[in-house]
Amino acid sequence: MKSALFLLLIGALFSTQTDNFSKKRVEMVKNQIQSRGVKNAAVLDAMRKVPRHRFVPSDKVSDAYGDGPLPIGYGQTISQPYIVAYMTEIINPKPVHRVLEIGTGSGYQAAVLSEIVSEVYTIEIVDELSKQAASRLANLNYKNVHVKTADGYYGWKEHAPYDAIVVTAAAEHVPPSLIEQLKEGGKMIIPVGSPFMVQELMLIEKSKGKIRTSAKMPVRFVPFTRK
Ligand code: SAH
Repeated sequence: MKSALFLLLIGALFSTQTDNFSKKRVEMVKNQIQSRGVKNAAVLDAMRKVPRHRFVPSDKVSDAYGDGPLPIGYGQTISQPYIVAYMTEIINPKPVHRVLEIGTGSGYQAAVLSEIVSEVYTIEIVDELSKQAASRLANLNYKNVHVKTADGYYGWKEHAPYDAIVVTAAAEHVPPSLIEQLKEGGKMIIPVGSPFMVQELMLIEKSKGKIRTSAKMPVRFVPFTRK
C-alpha cells in the first residue's frame, strides 16, 4: 500500500516535471521563434515536441529552454533554439526528404529534422560526441537518424544525393563534396566565415545545374574543424 502511494507520488512529480518542460517549449516557440518570423507549422510542431532538456548536460537542464546556445563539452555547443528552427525552415523540409547534417553535436538539430523528414544522416568529427548523440537519440527512440564519426567535409557519399544539407559548424568555404551531394532542386544552409568572428548564414540552392548563393543573416558558430 505504502509503496503504491510512493509510486503514485513519484509518477505525479514526474508528470508535473514533464508538463513543465512542454509548457516551456510552448513558450520558447512563441517568444523566441514565432516572434522572430518562423512560420512553418511542421517546424514549430517539431520544436514543441523535441525534449531539448534531454540534449544538454545535466547541470544545464534548467537553462535548456533559454534563448541562446549552451556548452555541451569538448568546446562545442548546442545551437540557439531560434537558429535551429530558422535553419530547419529555410531548407523547406518535406516528409519524403532525406537530409544530411554536418556537426551532430548534441543531436538536437538532427532530432528536430527527424520529426519532419524521412531520414537524417548526421556526421560528427568528435568521436565522444558522436557516440553520446547516437545513444541519446536511440534512447529517445529516434529511429530515422543515422550518426557517424567522420570529417563531414567529404559528406556521406553512400546515401547521396540529399534533398537538403544542414551544416552547423562555420566553414571558411563551402565544401565542394557537399555541393556535389546535393540533389537537383536541393537546398543547403551553411555558416561561412572565419572561426570566432561573425559569420554569414548562406543558403545554397542547386537548380538546373546552377548554384545560387544568398546571405541570410550574421551568425556565430563553432569552427568547422578538419581531421
Ligand atoms: N547541430 C548541433 C550543434 C553542434 S555545434 C546540435 O544541435 O547540438 C557543431 C558541431 O560540429 C560540433 O559538435 C563539432 O565538433 C562539429 N564539427 C566541426 N567540424 C566538423 C567536421 N569537419 N565534420 C563533422 N563535424 C564537425
